[in-house]
Amino acid sequence: MSLRIVVCVKYVPDATGDRHFADDLTVDRDDVDGLLSELDEYAVEQALQIAEEADDAEITVLTVGPEDAKDALRKALSMGADKAVHVEDDDLHGSDVMATSLVLAKAVEKTGYDLVICGMASTDGTMGVLPAILAERLGVPQVTLLSEVSVEDGLVKGRRDGDSASEQLEASLPAVVSVTDQSGEARYPSFKGIMAAKKKPVESLDLDDLDLDADEVGLEGSWTKVDSAAERPARTAGTIVKDEGEGGKQLAEFLASQKFI
Ligand SMILES: Cc1cc2nc3c(=O)[nH]c(=O)nc-3n(C[C@H](O)[C@H](O)[C@H](O)COP(=O)(O)OP(=O)(O)OC[C@H]3O[C@@H](n4cnc5c(N)ncnc54)[C@H](O)[C@@H]3O)c2cc1C
Repeated sequence: MSLRIVVCVKYVPDATGDRHFADDLTVDRDDVDGLLSELDEYAVEQALQIAEEADDAEITVLTVGPEDAKDALRKALSMGADKAVHVEDDDLHGSDVMATSLVLAKAVEKTGYDLVICGMASTDGTMGVLPAILAERLGVPQVTLLSEVSVEDGLVKGRRDGDSASEQLEASLPAVVSVTDQSGEARYPSFKGIMAAKKKPVESLDLDDLDLDADEVGLEGSWTKVDSAAERPARTAGTIVKDEGEGGKQLAEFLASQKFI
């Protein structure tokens, strides 16, 4: 039977762009260009490698995001994924990680899966908790932060590198894993891949399709709320120590005053 892999990919605001908060203190996603979160490219790459090793596998890329999030799906399809699912609904606006994970869990269940692969964190929210919450919602094992991952005999196996040890972990399928940026360079889409992606199916789902009510998601269904936000203060000029014989002493005094030494 075919190995069904779902890769969760996030469309994030371009970090090099000028990002702002909207009046309701959510990130203004209309005001800035977006892209497939670079850390999720590693998740797509690992899915492609697992599929290449399997006799028969199908990769679905899944995103919860606004209309433009289709760009992230197209990029993943051009890398080689087979099909895409886009959950989009005006009522999703303001969904935090609890609401987003609920939507993803419903969409993963509807799609059907043996293995869900996530990135280690998104490049905008960077919470790194969504894979664990998703696994809990799905009621399946989670094996997070893997630098190496493979599937064999109904098990997902991988290596998690810590500061003092590397662990070899495994879990029975179905399962959720997340992979790190040490798992292997993500491939560039080829010209053939980019052309093929235009013809691959992208299914659009809304809250009704997932049997979710508006008050379970969005600002209302979220567990967290942003009370206030302020622009980061502009950078001030640094302290210049001129060496006229006492430079070393002045430098040491400065470092001591900042409690570095
Ligand atoms: C239109 C929109 C509006 C939002 N508004 C708010 C808001 O007002 N307040 C708020 O707190 N959050 C909001 N979010 C949700 C937020 O951006 C995150 O998706 C969510 O909180 C997860 O946190 P994170 O990005 O830090 O995930 P992490 O835990 O860092 O992500 C780990 C992995 O989870 C997967 N993942 C995360 N998000 C998605 C996604 N959306 N689709 C597919 N896979 C995903 C990726 O594989 C990623 O690498 C909004 C999201 C969208 C799309």
